[in-house]
Amino acid sequence: MTQTITPVEIKPHPVVVPAHPHWPALSAEQKQALKERIKALLKQRNAVLVAHYYTDGDLQELAEETGGCVADSLEMARFGSRQEAQTLVVCGVRFMGETAKILNPEKRILMPDLNATCSLDEGCPADEFSEFCDQHPDHTVVVYANTSARVKARSDWVVTSGIALPIIEHLAARGEKILWAPDKHLGHYVQRMTGADMLLWNGSCVVHEEFKSVALERIRRLHPDAAVLVHPESPEDVIEQADVVGSTTALINAVVEMENSEFIVATDGGIFHKMKQLAPNKKLIAAPTAGEGATCESCAHCPWMGMNALQNLAEVLENQNNEILIDPDIREQAVKPIQRMLDFAQNR
Ligand code: SF4
Repeated sequence: MTQTITPVEIKPHPVVVPAHPHWPALSAEQKQALKERIKALLKQRNAVLVAHYYTDGDLQELAEETGGCVADSLEMARFGSRQEAQTLVVCGVRFMGETAKILNPEKRILMPDLNATCSLDEGCPADEFSEFCDQHPDHTVVVYANTSARVKARSDWVVTSGIALPIIEHLAARGEKILWAPDKHLGHYVQRMTGADMLLWNGSCVVHEEFKSVALERIRRLHPDAAVLVHPESPEDVIEQADVVGSTTALINAVVEMENSEFIVATDGGIFHKMKQLAPNKKLIAAPTAGEGATCESCAHCPWMGMNALQNLAEVLENQNNEILIDPDIREQAVKPIQRMLDFAQNR
């Protein structure tokens, strides 16, 4: 297929990135007491904990110990739909809570911090995006899951990183021109792989954008047998060095299934918790981010994901505040493109 990408000069929308939150250190006893309190509150409130792979390891453990789940954003939403519990507590970022609400309107969705957003979501305001769509009425609008409910409501399809490629292939095979938002790196990657005709919004993930190709080359020379695992939100010159490019779930599976004993991992460091749990004998090396922090695991952490902690999880269960609410009309529009993706995934 011929590459027919149309470059669009869109200025990136300014995003204010918060400092990484520093939670007061807890002694082992304090941490245990807090975990026990959260477990009791989950029972009292008939609530289930749903956590993303990028959140703190303590939250991931609690979710698993209490019958909740730790997953990527798509599986978090699917898991929520299967639960009888009337309250879902989403440890992650806001679009994940919103997706849970869109798919489960009858349930109450709580989050430890409603200010936990995402640079992709923040960088794609609904009004500006809607204007962009209006300027290109002949394009099918495909948005990444990392968007607000209002942006989803303006789209034809929602995709996650795990299913973006087959959906774009499917649309390209039907001759459709695609308007893609918000992640330009993932959009470029999908475009390169499929040859689809795509207009790209100019957004990026502040965590993945920091992975640096020259430093990655250097670290690969130090670990020549290591497989390089890269999330497709990363820049093109980092993706080009990957042995595996995929969603968080695909990268975790690669560590478990590949024979290599060492892996260089280019995605949020929170993912190491699940990788170590499933493959304790494998050596995991954080891909280098800006500057010379080549082996610093703490560099690649999302500041918004870091807003989830044991302390505010206990508070939200105690106070039952921080509820995700969505305008019913927006919800009605937003559920259609999400359902389209879920149906596509089921029928593949
Ligand atoms: S890691 Fe990037 S894509 Fe994920 S929530 Fe943070 S800013 Fe958004």
